[in-house]
Amino acid sequence: MTRSPDWIDHGSRHIWLPYTQMKTAAPPLPVVRTSGTRIELADGRSLVDGIASWWTACHGYNHPHIAEAIRAQLEVMPHVMFGGLTHEPALLLAQRLAALLGPGLDRVFFTESGSVAVEVAMKMAMQYWLNRGEPGRSRFLVFKGSYHGDTFGTMAVCDPDDGMHAVFKGLLATHDVAALPVDEASMAALDAHLAQHAGQLAGILVEPLVQGAGGMLLHSPVVLQRLRTLADRYGMLLIFDEIFTGFGRTGSLFAFEQAGIRPDIITLSKALTGGTLPLAATVASQRVFDAFLSDDPGHALMHGPTFMGNALACAAAHASLDLFEQEPRLAQAAAIGATLREGLAALAGLPWVKDVRTLGAIGVVELTRINDMNRLKQRLIDQGVWVRPFGRIVYLTPALTIGPEDLQRLIQAVNAVVAAGA
Ligand code: PLP
Repeated sequence: MTRSPDWIDHGSRHIWLPYTQMKTAAPPLPVVRTSGTRIELADGRSLVDGIASWWTACHGYNHPHIAEAIRAQLEVMPHVMFGGLTHEPALLLAQRLAALLGPGLDRVFFTESGSVAVEVAMKMAMQYWLNRGEPGRSRFLVFKGSYHGDTFGTMAVCDPDDGMHAVFKGLLATHDVAALPVDEASMAALDAHLAQHAGQLAGILVEPLVQGAGGMLLHSPVVLQRLRTLADRYGMLLIFDEIFTGFGRTGSLFAFEQAGIRPDIITLSKALTGGTLPLAATVASQRVFDAFLSDDPGHALMHGPTFMGNALACAAAHASLDLFEQEPRLAQAAAIGATLREGLAALAGLPWVKDVRTLGAIGVVELTRINDMNRLKQRLIDQGVWVRPFGRIVYLTPALTIGPEDLQRLIQAVNAVVAAGA
């Protein structure tokens, strides 16, 4: 092990960390280098990354094709403002995303984070109704366990009972929270709710197939078909948040493909740039877009982040999409899923394991409870892996390019640590 560099001591007095009780939490691990599926720490240790930096680094770290694309773009134009100006990387990326998403998802609005992409989707949906002369439709139907971001708009569409944003609970807009229509009974209950309240609802907002940060809860494509049916029945917009599920994570390029239906608005981010630069997209149908066309300037969408359409990020996204075209990412996701299913199965027999589930390149071990989260995290690190449990969940979402040895390291580490008790 090498001596810790000075920047750790000096900088730690000034940094404020995410989701962290700064008084009691263990200090973050200082990283000096990444490559492939490895994170190298300042003290020389190399950890196998089990979660691909919050599911972003789908091609592994430092992929040369993405690095080259960013470098080339940097020489030409790192960024120009998007108000009144535009550029080739953004326009061609909009065209490429629309082609990949297929008909009905036609207009791309770029932002720089997932939360903001969801905020924009919410603004689009609410103003869609305002512009059409229906001012009463300002709430959203959202689902138990949902997570859509940390900004004020998106905190309000997270499950209010999961406690994450509890401190702001009384200050947030209220929306309608329902159970996902997983069976006929919950479908009938939701139908009845909408029959009464659809006139006040702008849309239905859901993460398709997996509620990710909200508990790694899986549901079947049938649920999405039911939501499409209800949205059509009551004339509501259907919004899919694919910030977690997009770009191969669930086994198809987009999760909605598995349901054979399409949303009216979709949000994308995270793996859009292969986890290299911040970029997000809110993509709407032509019908939604057309509602903003008017001789009244007040009907325009009033949103425009300074760094929207950043040219470096767009170049990175193009390179990431090239890799999806040139390399067998979806087959890799399926193979990872099969290995996770087999490798984690034995844990299901432990009394303190509530459930083991997998979908695409996602493996989830849900415990009945975690007694000491800090100790659990430390034991995973001691096993040489970077896995970050939350709530009662230990999960793996590795890069889709992870090799068999590193994948086995992750599986063995999770097995060893969970089997020893949490
Ligand atoms: N929506 C979903 C489904 C997410 O998983 C996340 C982040 O984890 C977000 C929204 C928020 O994205 P960001 O952290 O980029 O703001």
